[in-house]
Amino acid sequence: MFDYDLLVLGAGSGGVACARRAASHGARVAIVEEAEIGGTCVHRGCIPKKFLVYASHFAHDLCDSKGYGWNIKEYSFSWSDLVSTKSLELQRLEGIYRSLLLDSGVKIFQGHGHLQTNTTLKVNSDTISAENILLATGGWPTMPNIDGIHLAINSNDVFDLPSKPDRIVVVGGGYIACELAAVFNGLGSEVTQLYRSEMILRGFDDEIRKNAYQEMVKSGIDIRLGQNVASLSETPGSLSVNTTSGGKISADQVLFAIGRKPNTSNIGLLELGVSLNDNGAVNVNEDFRSSISNIYAIGDCTDRLNLTPVAIHEGRCLAETLFNSNPQFVDYRNVPTAIFTQPEIGIVGLSEEQARKEFGNIKVFKAHFRPLKHTLTGRETKVFVKLVVDVKTDRVLGCHMIGDSSSEIVQALGVALQAGATKAQFDQTMAVHPTSAEELVTMY
Ligand code: FAD
Ligand code: NDP
Repeated sequence: MFDYDLLVLGAGSGGVACARRAASHGARVAIVEEAEIGGTCVHRGCIPKKFLVYASHFAHDLCDSKGYGWNIKEYSFSWSDLVSTKSLELQRLEGIYRSLLLDSGVKIFQGHGHLQTNTTLKVNSDTISAENILLATGGWPTMPNIDGIHLAINSNDVFDLPSKPDRIVVVGGGYIACELAAVFNGLGSEVTQLYRSEMILRGFDDEIRKNAYQEMVKSGIDIRLGQNVASLSETPGSLSVNTTSGGKISADQVLFAIGRKPNTSNIGLLELGVSLNDNGAVNVNEDFRSSISNIYAIGDCTDRLNLTPVAIHEGRCLAETLFNSNPQFVDYRNVPTAIFTQPEIGIVGLSEEQARKEFGNIKVFKAHFRPLKHTLTGRETKVFVKLVVDVKTDRVLGCHMIGDSSSEIVQALGVALQAGATKAQFDQTMAVHPTSAEELVTMY
């Protein structure tokens, strides 16, 4: 009756994962993509961002190496070399994603997909029918409606700038703003970060937010709290940022990182009556079903936990449920996450504030110390580690860390928290010495 068992709209992290898993169970699958295969993570998100983070770290390493006896006299950085090696690698990854889909037997349609009915979709001149439709259309950066906004850039533009800005204003206090402020600061740009409220990284543990702010300021970022952009204008050779507090900042680039909106308009959802929330995200139940029973949605277009591993896992769970008689649901507790500031932040589980609200009686263990490496470099930076523990069960509810390799450390800690590890079990675990992570098992 239908051309395909599953038609996936959007070949990003979630869509590709679902399409491949469904095809591996024998489903006839098509995927529609209007841009590059791989989506945000590969082309405008995690991967190019991490390349920039690595590039920026070399600046710190070169500087720190003096304390260890190195005398590196001459070095220079080429933004255009970095952009071209990054772009080549992204092209290679696109090829890999495309082959993985084709080798799994997934048919790729390149173009903008628009739903005609709940079982048919139009892409270019093709009309494709499918029994099940998956929306995996991701999201897009939002920009404010202010004078001169055409002069600003967002995270889609930042990875291909023609040159590294000498002065950049970054607007926002979330993941993207903090990460990119740190990147450009490391690369030697003069960075001003404007955040509209009282403390960056709203939603994270309050002490982590304060420590992150202090580390970012120490590293040289001029963070201005309680300020936003009122308008932008152009002056010869420069941009002028007029702030809501009446100030003016001159910059070469102004980067807005003020959140993202799900890509759910202009794809036929309103006409079909698919239920969306106020931010345009598809409302789904725990098995990813929208208000129309054969239309599903995963990843950033549902605007829940907008992270690549979550989109991938949701996609795989859906494919297992639909095509392998193996119903799978996602456990959204204890999802580890990292903010790749410098030093980076790693988090898994509940913040102190969330834990207090949910569990009432909690204990908090923390350590704040100078990492061994920097006793010789002289760099003024500190590691902060915090464990949040439920008094009644002794279960560790949350781990929070700022310091080098925090992202790698919380990935492993995620297993412990998911397994329900207690503080006593953390204490029984032998430390690896000398490391920063050993504090996690020695905070008696
Ligand atoms: P996407 O990957 O966005 O894929 C959606 C795809 O659908 C796109 O390719 C789009 O072109 C296509 N599409 C949309 N509409 C249509 C249509 N009508 N027809 C055809 N195709 C269509 N997450 C992490 O876990 N770690 C990180 O370090 C990290 N860093 C990030 C850095 C930045 C700058 C950004 C922006 C995001 C970052 N993220 C990170 C978040 C992560 O990228 C997303 O959560 C993830 O990519 C979401 O995957 P998705 O499949 O839902 O959507
Ligand atoms: P976030 O939602 O994380 O942060 C948005 C920031 O912009 C907040 O500080 C918010 O302030 C501020 N803001 C919102 N509206 C305005 C406005 N009109 N004017 C000024 N400031 C405003 O979004 P991001 O864009 O940083 O990132 C999107 C998502 O992508 C993240 O939530 C995350 O899920 C994912 N991501 C993950 C990464 C990782 O895993 N390392 C890295 C990058 C992105 P307020 O707090 O006051 O609301």
